[in-house]
Amino acid sequence: MRKIAAFIFIFGAFHAPLQCSSIIKPITDYLAKDYGTTPLDNVHQQQVRSIMKEMGITKSIDLRKSNWKAKAVFGRNNAFALYDRYLYLSDSFFDELSKEEQRFLIGHELSHLKYNHIPIRLGFSFFLWILAMFLFWNVSRKIREKISRRSITIPLRIGSAFLLGFGMNVCNATLSRIHERQADVESARCLDCSQGGIEFFCRLEKSATILTPQYDYSTKFKRLVASHPSNDERKQYINELNNKG
Ligand SMILES: [Zn+2]
Repeated sequence: MRKIAAFIFIFGAFHAPLQCSSIIKPITDYLAKDYGTTPLDNVHQQQVRSIMKEMGITKSIDLRKSNWKAKAVFGRNNAFALYDRYLYLSDSFFDELSKEEQRFLIGHELSHLKYNHIPIRLGFSFFLWILAMFLFWNVSRKIREKISRRSITIPLRIGSAFLLGFGMNVCNATLSRIHERQADVESARCLDCSQGGIEFFCRLEKSATILTPQYDYSTKFKRLVASHPSNDERKQYINELNNKG
């Protein structure tokens, strides 16, 4: 049993690079289909391709329009990168942005793809899940060995599962916030568009339609499991970059 657990554990560690491999392209193609398969129009394609050149990104990227489902899941006011090769734009929202904001937003999403943030996050999350299973199995065994009364062991096991789940969420959210910051900084630096970034986050702040759970920072708990830094935080570090530069 221990050997099986160790094998799963090691497999988890190698899962992230595996995500980037072309072997899984048919799977990611199939999953990405859900958010739309319509390619971006020529004008937007050219705009993104020229920013890719500026950022020195040569990998193959599929540029697509967000469909209604993508807008429902990620919000209308959004662009997002998926796996290691898809960039989705909500064109109606995108056209409302200033040229500098558009450059910042595209640069941000391209940075996610450049650094393989999504496959790394998926791999990390899978690795954490295996680790949590492994720990839960060991903790449960210890509880069973030390305590015989089921009325005590059951709540203890439920409590440890809850703690492990919470720990996983915090770890996943922390990595996600690190990646978001890296993508913001990379875009602002590479494209020299920090002003566009600040204006973009001011716009998001004013907009009521992006109120999704990951943008809720009303309590300490919610801040701990937020997938993105708050708009204020993002404006602050971009501003610092501006002052330094
Ligand atoms: Zn992002």
